[in-house]
Amino acid sequence: MKNSKLVIIVPCYNEEEILEYSILQLTMLLDIMINNNLISTNSKICFINDGSTDNTSNILEKHCKINKKIMVINLTNNFGQQNAILAGLNIIDSDMVITIDADLQDDHTVMIDMVKKYYEGYDIVYGVRQKREPSSFLKTGSAILFYKLMNLLGIQIRKNHSEFRLLSCRAIEKLKEFKEKTIFLRGIIQSLGLKSCDVYYDGLERLAGKTKYSVFTLFGLAWTAITSFSIMPLRLITSIGLLSGIISFFIIIYGIISYIKHYAVPGWTSIIMTIVFFSSIIIMSLGIIGEYLSKVLIEVKDRPLYQIDSMINF
Ligand code: UDP
Ligand code: MG
Repeated sequence: MKNSKLVIIVPCYNEEEILEYSILQLTMLLDIMINNNLISTNSKICFINDGSTDNTSNILEKHCKINKKIMVINLTNNFGQQNAILAGLNIIDSDMVITIDADLQDDHTVMIDMVKKYYEGYDIVYGVRQKREPSSFLKTGSAILFYKLMNLLGIQIRKNHSEFRLLSCRAIEKLKEFKEKTIFLRGIIQSLGLKSCDVYYDGLERLAGKTKYSVFTLFGLAWTAITSFSIMPLRLITSIGLLSGIISFFIIIYGIISYIKHYAVPGWTSIIMTIVFFSSIIIMSLGIIGEYLSKVLIEVKDRPLYQIDSMINF
């Protein structure tokens, strides 16, 4: 079945510097695919404006007026990239979608290969970066650490894949069955268990504008990934508790022997050390339990993940 409908979903938050370029590149690529009968003529590009405060919405609106292939979903606020993508996936009705960042740091031309893979019967096609773009030491380092940690915790995610991927409507239907609020799309999509494959490309540098992800926000994403997909930190508490139990057993034995042998000097240092050691473990454990509890609270509140302000060209 060739000639299926494709919608390219592009989350954008304050992307005024690069948006004109991205719109031009993506519309050109869409036209090429349509003209080569790779996708149907009603294929589109949908920009999700994630509460931008710069000129992003004006630029999008301008292009919507001149090109009916461009759709826009304006969110009322900044809900984050994951929720912006999710808004697109929930609203768009298409045979397949491809999600890509607005800065086109992922090589958009490999979309052609992605679509071909779709026709070969793949429900998920991951865009995988072969060469990382030259980014800051901190960012590269934290990315390496992220994958190592995920691996250690047994969380399966595709290495060097971010949010650039093709999903068939079947994959989207399955994704919609996940009702959780703290979304880590990469983890969930991988767990769908549908037929998937990779396409490779070289990561590019951001041509204009700034990254919206600091090391701290990346850390936040990693934390969401861990607490959404792994109960390992909770298990770790049990192990630490067990270990501290063993240590305190020996401390008690030492205390008793010292007492019997009468060389028990007032052990101020050891008392202080014991108190500090165990109270730090207790506080840390409470903290981790609190993290999971906060997740439960978020789920119970059941707040909407995003709210739509307006939709153009739908
Ligand atoms: N983005 C978004 N909402 C946010 C932050 C980012 O929609 O709150 C979009 C952003 O406009 C871009 C994509 O998510 O299209 C990835 O962001 P960025 O390029 O800044 O991340 P990086 O590539 O540096 O990790
Ligand atoms: Mg980027």
